[in-house]
Amino acid sequence: MKDSYLNFANGGFGARLTNMLGMPRPEFLERYEPEQPVINGSVLLGSGGDPALLETLAALFQSMKTQTLFHAQTPQWLKIANDAGLITGRWETKGKQSEKVKALVFDATGIGDSSESAVLHRFFHDSARSILNCGRIIVFGRPPEQCQDARKATVQRGLEGLMRSLGKEIKRGVAAQLVYVAEGAENHIESTLRFLLSPRSAYVSGQVVHIGGAKKAARDPADWSVPLKGKKILVTGSARGIGAAIAEVMARDGAKVVCLDIPQAQIDIEKVAAKLDGSALALDLTHSAAPDTLVTAAQADGGWDVVVHNAGITRDKTLANMRAEIWNSVVDVNLSTQERINDALLESGALNKSGRIVCVSSISGIAGNLGQANYAFSKAGVIGMVQSLAPSLAQHDITINAVAPGFIETQMTAVIPFGIREAGRRLNSMHQGGQPQDVAEAVAWFANPASGGVTGNIVRVCGQSLLGA
Ligand code: NAD
Repeated sequence: MKDSYLNFANGGFGARLTNMLGMPRPEFLERYEPEQPVINGSVLLGSGGDPALLETLAALFQSMKTQTLFHAQTPQWLKIANDAGLITGRWETKGKQSEKVKALVFDATGIGDSSESAVLHRFFHDSARSILNCGRIIVFGRPPEQCQDARKATVQRGLEGLMRSLGKEIKRGVAAQLVYVAEGAENHIESTLRFLLSPRSAYVSGQVVHIGGAKKAARDPADWSVPLKGKKILVTGSARGIGAAIAEVMARDGAKVVCLDIPQAQIDIEKVAAKLDGSALALDLTHSAAPDTLVTAAQADGGWDVVVHNAGITRDKTLANMRAEIWNSVVDVNLSTQERINDALLESGALNKSGRIVCVSSISGIAGNLGQANYAFSKAGVIGMVQSLAPSLAQHDITINAVAPGFIETQMTAVIPFGIREAGRRLNSMHQGGQPQDVAEAVAWFANPASGGVTGNIVRVCGQSLLGA
């Protein structure tokens, strides 16, 4: 659905008026298109204490052909970058016109005590005004729960509050994230860094991502522009909306996609599948035979590499007015079918080695929502399923993650009453709704063969919505 306010607030008169009245000013967000570089501009690098990731980051920036600058607090970057064959230079803060950069990347893994946190203040204080529109802030830290020392765990946990505040303060389409890298997982960062730096993460902000050590060494795709080449992927609920966008992005990234939806949507799934050179599967997921049908279909395809549980429904009513059938149908489509299908695919081996399961939750499952007790229960259950399955699946080199979309412009949100719809669109750091592509890009990052260290994560695609924050 069209967001007229976005165009109005960016027009000459509208921009002046919204400025005068102190109204939110959404930015036209940059979104990924094929052939684009990972990042359109340079990265300013900073660090504190005894940073652990600088060498790794230098190699990654080299692989992405990214130009870097370094802050005075990180003079060691000059040698590290030169050794890695990177072009780099010292970022000057003298005068008001310091060089503009597209991203700020801070390695905070070496900060071991809150008394050392002034380095964080200095870096972000110096650079906050130098970040370009639709820029990125990425802070790297160590998972607090894995820090042996309480002082270190404390300061590492503090990074979350810093990052979320920066996301809210800087505006102009700038997104901020915190990435906790477990010791030993340094070789599993690339897919995440590429995603978070690029316009693929346009509507992801204020998120904490955990990267752990995968059972196997990272498998970089042969070609980062088509990372899913050769992968066979099932996307449920892909006749329209977010599911259709997921199928499109997966096909754009090289995958063969099986598009599944209910039999009533057969014509639409066939259209989506034909456009992507994929195949269509008409199946009601709640049917008792659905898991077996899927196992047979996967085996006929030689197994699937990725399963995306996107199909979902809403049937809103306050709990006091909600009939049992309505509760049951929402829980069955949104949650129980995912459990049954996972069990069947895993038991039969129809999910290939190094498989990926990606689930679609919702910020309703995090914040709860008036009139959505059934939906919020089901979506919170999805989060529980991801977190409980991740450790055992990791033993088999399979990852499971979820995206939790906020307000996304689809047919599902077009029917929300105007006032609530406007609140949903504006009450986030981007002051606008997201696009189905934004959810799809996050799903593609989880599906990436190089994302083996990313499991058990729930990443909101919500523009840093205030709901449940
Ligand atoms: P949508 O209604 O446009 O699409 C959902 C698709 O799922 C439909 O094509 C539908 O036919 C299919 N489906 C429903 N029941 C099915 C069943 N039993 N078997 C097979 N297919 C079935 O919705 P959307 O907005 O594209 O949402 C996609 C997912 O994202 C859902 O899980 C939804 O809960 C979630 N989500 C959406 C938003 C949003 O703002 N649109 C926000 C948070 C979460």
